[in-house]
Amino acid sequence: MLPSFSYARPRTLKDALTRLSASGAHPHAGGTDLLGCLRDGVFDAREVVSLSDLAELRGIARTKDGGLRIGALATLAELARHPDVVSRYPVLAQGAAAAASPQLRNQGTVGGNVCQRPRCWYFRGDFLCARKGGELCYAENGENEYHAIFGGSGCHIVHPSDTAPALVALGATAVVASAKGSRRVPMEKLFVLPAVDIHHETVLAPGELVTEILVPPPPPGARSLYRKVRSRAAWDFALAGVAAVVSVADGKVTNARLVLSGVAPVPWRVPGAERALAGKPLDAASAAVAARAAVEGAAPLAGNGYKVDLVRGVVEEALTVLATPATPA
Ligand SMILES: Cc1cc2nc3c(=O)[nH]c(=O)nc-3n(C[C@H](O)[C@H](O)[C@H](O)COP(=O)(O)OP(=O)(O)OC[C@H]3O[C@@H](n4cnc5c(N)ncnc54)[C@H](O)[C@@H]3O)c2cc1C
Ligand code: SF4
Repeated sequence: MLPSFSYARPRTLKDALTRLSASGAHPHAGGTDLLGCLRDGVFDAREVVSLSDLAELRGIARTKDGGLRIGALATLAELARHPDVVSRYPVLAQGAAAAASPQLRNQGTVGGNVCQRPRCWYFRGDFLCARKGGELCYAENGENEYHAIFGGSGCHIVHPSDTAPALVALGATAVVASAKGSRRVPMEKLFVLPAVDIHHETVLAPGELVTEILVPPPPPGARSLYRKVRSRAAWDFALAGVAAVVSVADGKVTNARLVLSGVAPVPWRVPGAERALAGKPLDAASAAVAARAAVEGAAPLAGNGYKVDLVRGVVEEALTVLATPATPA
């Protein structure tokens, strides 16, 4: 059952930000994650502030510099089918399309997708674990087959979002607003490891709202793709995945950004694999070398060693697909 809280639906962003500056206020976008968290007692809310009347947070449009402006309330379904996203940023369209189910994609927004809370079953259950203010990580020596193989330190969540790895790979920036003003945060710096802050998944301060996400124009010669492996074909989070954006000129890789999903508390860039591709032809041989480099430093727990092989396979497969000329640029 939902606990009691007050509910506001402000008409202006200014009013919304003022309300969100109060202690215990939470933004409500599509509500597909928030309402589950409240119902299951993951955290409390004094006030839930609906964003649904804020027209300025909607829309997907090309910017003057040839990039893309995505309003935080753009739904995953809108992202997945938007012609400009599909043709110029396939990695993002595919990430959005790979999330959840059609119903959830119609309701869930990109702002909510990148700010959703982790799915660790102890965190979502009746356990006062370290992330909820307790002392122990129950996953560390417990049931940990869906947990992190990189970046875990006192907490081994995986970041659940399918769009965040794509946005990091594309070098996007979040525009963040609060009652005190606004700032820009590169998507790569939006997410925070447990070693830095075990209680939060983003650097957002209380009262801060993602209002839009700005994606730069795709680099010349860029090919991109999102590949996600899950236990069943729909309605499931990534066991492992990769957002790959690779630029090729004169037959050689000039730039590569590879970001893993489902294996770390944040979208996990693999610079060693990116370096392994630089200056090489994009082919089966370089894909295999990069895939091996992608798992360097993995530290699996007792139940999730299978993810090491999964990452290697998913990276090699994604790069091999990108190496074929038929892949959309
Ligand atoms: C059965 C099921 C399966 C799912 N599968 C997937 C999956 O495979 N992949 C995946 O990526 N996700 C999945 N999700 C998670 C989720 O539903 C979606 O990610 C959705 O996009 C969340 O968006 P929302 O607008 O509903 O967020 P909400 O529920 O409204 O918000 C989520 C959180 O973000 C905060 N928030 C919302 N908007 C903002 C903002 N603009 N700025 C700052 N904070 C904000 C809220 O306060 C809340 O804490 C799944 C959910 C369910 C229930
Ligand atoms: S992995 Fe994190 S969220 Fe899960 S039990 Fe451990 S501390 Fe809690």
